[in-house]
Amino acid sequence: MKLLYLIADGMGDWPLEELGGKTTMEAAKTPNMDELARTGIVGRAQTVPEGMQPGSDVANMALLGFDPARYHTGRGPIEAAAQGLDLDPNDLVWRLNLVTLSQLTIDGFMRDYSSGHISSDVSRPLINALQDALGNETYTFIPGIQYRHLLVQKNGAQSEDADIAISPPHDITDKPIKPDLRKYSKSPFLWDLLFEAKDLLMNRDINTSMANAIWPWGQGRPLLLPDFTETFGLTGAVISAVDLIKGLGHASGMEVIDVEGATGLLDTNYAGKVDAALNFLKENDFVFVHLEGPDECGHGGNPQDKIEAISRFDAQIVAPLREALKEEAVGWIVTCDHFTPIVKRTHTSDPVPFIIHGPGCPPSGLDHFSEKTASTTGISLENGYELLAYALKKLGMK
Ligand SMILES: [Zn+2]
Repeated sequence: MKLLYLIADGMGDWPLEELGGKTTMEAAKTPNMDELARTGIVGRAQTVPEGMQPGSDVANMALLGFDPARYHTGRGPIEAAAQGLDLDPNDLVWRLNLVTLSQLTIDGFMRDYSSGHISSDVSRPLINALQDALGNETYTFIPGIQYRHLLVQKNGAQSEDADIAISPPHDITDKPIKPDLRKYSKSPFLWDLLFEAKDLLMNRDINTSMANAIWPWGQGRPLLLPDFTETFGLTGAVISAVDLIKGLGHASGMEVIDVEGATGLLDTNYAGKVDAALNFLKENDFVFVHLEGPDECGHGGNPQDKIEAISRFDAQIVAPLREALKEEAVGWIVTCDHFTPIVKRTHTSDPVPFIIHGPGCPPSGLDHFSEKTASTTGISLENGYELLAYALKKLGMK
């Protein structure tokens, strides 16, 4: 049997007054997930282990069946794996955002973690310019996608820089940067780099985008994961617009499928993802389809956008896959990696609702798939990284 694993990033949310006490999942139109929930197993899983940050890197690692407490070294290393970078075990890999600050001083605020969702066409030349001007034996700037790039610090894994805990920039939207600047100041070289990068980015001959600073965070040693096929006995692929999912795929030996027009935003290429998933499943067992849109809308703080993103996930990912596979015995897992509550505009560690659907799964009888209904079934996995193995067992695949 084949297994489809569908992830709506950041879909979970809290009840909103403006929606009459409903969550965005409850307000969204989700007839396909509702039907899978009614006729499948529904429960909750704690994807973010206690004491860890509720990042997409941690949560998706757990969804793929690997214990983040054991394997997670940082966000940067996962994205480096996505690029297939050749790294030394002693390198320290930082995720590097191009951000918009009110100003780079202790009175400054984080205005935009994404520099207005800067496009790769604009951001990559900026990263290359930073490398030309500031790259040296210790630091290498490596361009990625949109606002998400990397900084490799040679032999940094054994330095004190490895222990600096900088806030993820999407967690401090419109908040002061003072606490983080204090931490950066503990590393004189990194501190200089911040200010030299700012000077370059403020030069209007080089840069006319909203990006006016770099923000290195999420650093760690290079990522090492067990082989997915050896661990679960399935040949698998990941399909996503975002680097960190590709990194988890590469590092665990899965196929990583790039879909043209997959943007991570509301206008992503849904049909392309569906086609790629169906195509891969013809000859293989497992595909992890990740949609970033709901999370971005949660960070944006607009409930109507998030409702739209969840409705589109249902209508343009779940529905066509169901239709195409209706004659086949297929197992399904549908879930999100973490909550991104509209009121918080960042991630939380709430246990995520999930559906497991397929031959042999007892029907829950629920009429809707939501955070609330998932909390009523009594099925609760304390270790989110066990969800995949749990599903395989319920589906008779292991
Ligand atoms: Zn996420």
